[in-house]
Amino acid sequence: MVLTAVEEVLACPVCGLALSFQNGTLRCEQAHSFDVAKEGYVNLLRKKLPGDTKEMVIARRAFFDKGYYLPVSELLNSLMLEHLPTTEAGPLYLLDAGCGEGYYLSRLQESLRANHIPLQGLGIDISKDAIRMAARKYPEAFFMVANLKETLPLADQGLAGMLNIFAPRNVAEYARVLKPGAPLLIVIPGPRHLEELRQSLQLLNIEENKQQHVVEQFAGSFDLLATRSLTYELDLRQEEIAQVVMMTPNYWHQSEESRLRMTALHALTTTVDFVYLVLQHK
Ligand SMILES: [Zn+2]
Repeated sequence: MVLTAVEEVLACPVCGLALSFQNGTLRCEQAHSFDVAKEGYVNLLRKKLPGDTKEMVIARRAFFDKGYYLPVSELLNSLMLEHLPTTEAGPLYLLDAGCGEGYYLSRLQESLRANHIPLQGLGIDISKDAIRMAARKYPEAFFMVANLKETLPLADQGLAGMLNIFAPRNVAEYARVLKPGAPLLIVIPGPRHLEELRQSLQLLNIEENKQQHVVEQFAGSFDLLATRSLTYELDLRQEEIAQVVMMTPNYWHQSEESRLRMTALHALTTTVDFVYLVLQHK
């Protein structure tokens, strides 16, 4: 993609003015400027914040490449196809808030374009390693390193849709950048997600009543249009077990005992349980 294709939907996170690409930087009229990396992404963080490490991102990409989460991506694509507006002229901008290494966003963009919807994907993640890998592999989308908990580098009501998959949520900012009526698809772990693996290795639990919490959190600015769940079993070998642990926050929290158990675990069948919440900006 040409970088200027996304200019109209960007805004300076410091002052809110329009941003434009000039000589390898992205800058506003008040001269706040951000470097464009050679891979084509922009880093808007003032200082490095802890995000997924390179090791975690590599594990996640290796796991995705084996197709284990293909059904997750396909349901997401069909829900977006159903809920995105189709009559609008020009590009439809869609943000993946917490896009990681870009798997779901790039597949969504490809799928909707194949259905003649001129989708332009944007991805934001706090991990520079994740964004660098995303920008290298998926040059058709635009990626930024930024903190979802702060002011997003996006204009008011510029987005036609948003994805938020296992990622932090910022209700006020998501409401600000989405057009009225735009869909926000949130994917969270269901209560049985990886339960056999979590029991076997004493991994982190899924927060109770998470679905209800998220719906309540967004209720002021968003209506709940639909809820779907996706459950299936995965047969994992030792290599993939390690990848699943490494691609989740368990990477930071795993005990020594759990690590030892993991090295002795050669295969495991575990449940995948995803909950999809289709919200609509009021
Ligand atoms: Zn500015």
